[in-house]
Amino acid sequence: LSAGDQTLVVVGAGPAGVMAAIEGSRWGLNVTVVDEQARIGGQYYRTRADSPADGSPRHLTAAAQATEARVNTTVFDAPATGTLRTWSPDRGALDVPYDRLVLATGAYERAVALPGWTLPGVMTAGGMHALAKNQRVVPGRRVIVAGAGPFLLEAADALASRGCQVVVVDATRLRDALSGLPALARVPKLLVQAAGYFARLARRRVAIRYGELVTAIHGDDAVEEVTVARVDRHWRPIPGTARRLKVDAVCLGFGFVPHLDLAQLIGCNVEYHDEDAGFAVATDPFMRTTVAGVYAAGETIGIAGVGAARLTGRLAGLAAAFDAGLVPGAEFARQSARIRLQIGRYRRVAEWMRKTYRPRRGLWELAVDETMACRCEDVTIGDLRSALELTSPSPVDLKTLTRAGMGPCQGRICSPFIIEWLRSGQNFVVPPHHLPWSIRPPVRPVPLEAWLDHPRG
Ligand SMILES: Cc1cc2nc3c(=O)[nH]c(=O)nc-3n(C[C@H](O)[C@H](O)[C@H](O)COP(=O)(O)OP(=O)(O)OC[C@H]3O[C@@H](n4cnc5c(N)ncnc54)[C@H](O)[C@@H]3O)c2cc1C
Repeated sequence: LSAGDQTLVVVGAGPAGVMAAIEGSRWGLNVTVVDEQARIGGQYYRTRADSPADGSPRHLTAAAQATEARVNTTVFDAPATGTLRTWSPDRGALDVPYDRLVLATGAYERAVALPGWTLPGVMTAGGMHALAKNQRVVPGRRVIVAGAGPFLLEAADALASRGCQVVVVDATRLRDALSGLPALARVPKLLVQAAGYFARLARRRVAIRYGELVTAIHGDDAVEEVTVARVDRHWRPIPGTARRLKVDAVCLGFGFVPHLDLAQLIGCNVEYHDEDAGFAVATDPFMRTTVAGVYAAGETIGIAGVGAARLTGRLAGLAAAFDAGLVPGAEFARQSARIRLQIGRYRRVAEWMRKTYRPRRGLWELAVDETMACRCEDVTIGDLRSALELTSPSPVDLKTLTRAGMGPCQGRICSPFIIEWLRSGQNFVVPPHHLPWSIRPPVRPVPLEAWLDHPRG
């Protein structure tokens, strides 16, 4: 292969994937971007379709004409080194070969199993935000937005601006939330954004209560009330502080967890980070994973916001082009140093956010025996406890005995919770460099025909 014939496939067309594609094509790689969504843009640009900013769909169109973008296309398998298997309604199942691959598959919302979390009317903050902003649908008149982190403010703003009566409860203590001001001041854009939310929420009389947690959700067929309590620094309810509030809907936001399935299927190391209560794809400083020719960028390597996603994406594209022999060494050194300096500024904010808003032990202790742990397979906390009488406290053994994590989501929703529940109450020690269960294709739900088109040998 001459250098210019080399292909770069980018999985994920959010800001990280778009920047990786633009950078790769700028240096002469033949780039294909694949995304399962109907449009380019990922999480951030879904509600900002006309933005011309870096990493946006408009930026991709303007800057990387030589790039092929395949939307509605799900990567569901990696059957051999250098090959991905995709499925789309138009093309059916296809094998997509690559010389270099950037995984920019983003993150998804962390689900927390607390009493009542599966009742109709309970949603994640991102889901409710998307409904309110994109479809102009609100889930009820009185909504409680609960969890931890600045994303609660964005969700509350979207709901309040559509006429909901909103109360925000953030389990973080106010003094911890304020401790981030010096880090935020280094990225003035973020400071201005935060100030804007506080001002708009104050104008709409949205109460924001720090150091409080929804400890249980009540209702027969749908949400009717929540119990809210003050919590200590471990997020354990303080006795005597619980009170009930009548609500029509509950919006839970306990942060995001990276998509890891494809990375692990390909054989990339993932690393457990205590401060995130979760895993992320491991990379070197230039976004190379532990598998040669495979890079990772954006929230797949850790939750750090859109600014960091754009920059890590760009660095991954640059490193892929450099490794393909398309970028002179001195140019790579100069450009990568500049990008890494910028990433550092965002990372400092991200580190503070992780430390401040990290879910604490008390959160994993709220579930009772009747609480659903795996909603795909209807496995309750009581079922897990019974299984623990027969087996060791490890997610893979519990999966075998109870089927927790074997449903259509393949454990994406329940496993981050089950791992933390086992860690906090059952002395489970997380392996530092790989997920404590194996990943099998299909990593995303696809029609049976996708599978039958390509029987595995
Ligand atoms: C409602 C909302 C508001 C936000 N607001 C802000 C904000 O104000 N400031 C901020 O800094 N951050 C914000 N964020 C976070 C921000 O969106 C993320 O930091 C950013 O989108 C991460 O970019 P990414 O490219 O890593 O991932 P994403 O944008 O999540 O893109 C990943 C893409 O990969 C695709 N994908 C994943 N797996 C597959 C597969 N197997 N096959 C095919 N495609 C796949 C997905 O469809 C997705 O389009 C917000 C997030 C949400 C949900």
